Amino acid sequence: MEDRLFRNAMGKFATGVTVITTTLDDETYGMTANAFMSVSLNPPLVVVSIGEKASMLSRIEQSNTFAVSILEENQKALSQHFAGQRQEGQEIPFGELEGYPVIDGSVAQVVCDVVSTHVEGDHSLFIGKVKAIHIEDYNPLLFFNGGYKKLAVDELV
Ligand code: FAD
Ligand code: NAD
Repeated sequence: MEDRLFRNAMGKFATGVTVITTTLDDETYGMTANAFMSVSLNPPLVVVSIGEKASMLSRIEQSNTFAVSILEENQKALSQHFAGQRQEGQEIPFGELEGYPVIDGSVAQVVCDVVSTHVEGDHSLFIGKVKAIHIEDYNPLLFFNGGYKKLAVDELV
């Protein structure tokens, strides 16, 4: 199957945008990801999927922790920055939640300890047990059809 066909189809699934962060040897690292999902309520588990070429992969393998910051609609430049498109003069608003690194100003922050890792194809799935959560009442940044979008708040009745 052609890669572009697969990506175009997956791009029809509208998602939020997150920055995954972790700390290793006192250094904080971030990476943009939309492959994030809730897994279980009891216990509270989430999953992130990290490509084999991403440097974040070995960092999470070593730190055994990660945090997920769900970006706010005005944080597109941060998403681009942490996807490797460096933004000139971009300030990185790192914050901290219960000792885990997070992105300040995000819609929600979920910090985790890795409980298991599953290598599937060219990605690794990290299952994280949620240790703490912070939520703000902001609108999320969206990713759809390979581009960034804003929420249009038209409720379907
Ligand atoms: P790098 O390329 O080293 O880091 C990424 C960028 O973050 C670099 O520009 C780096 O300078 C910067 N950075 C890192 N830490 C810091 C710091 N402490 N201070 C300042 N800058 C810092 N890939 C996946 O594997 N899974 C996904 O779910 C996924 N979803 C994506 C969703 C979207 C919308 C986009 C645009 C990309 C997505 N990607 C995903 C691709 C992924 O974001 C890129 O491949 C990314 O560049 C891989 O990062 P890396 O870990 O190799 O680290
Ligand atoms: P795109 O059209 O490549 O992405 C559309 C959708 O395809 C994504 O939302 C994702 O579900 C899927 N996808 C894309 N690349 C993938 C990959 N390597 N592995 C698994 N699923 C993938 O959008 P774009 O604007 O061209 O993306 C920007 C860059 O970010 C590209 O290099 C893309 O590969 C990467 N990206 C990677 C992932 C991922 O690894 N899970 C997810 C999104 C984007």
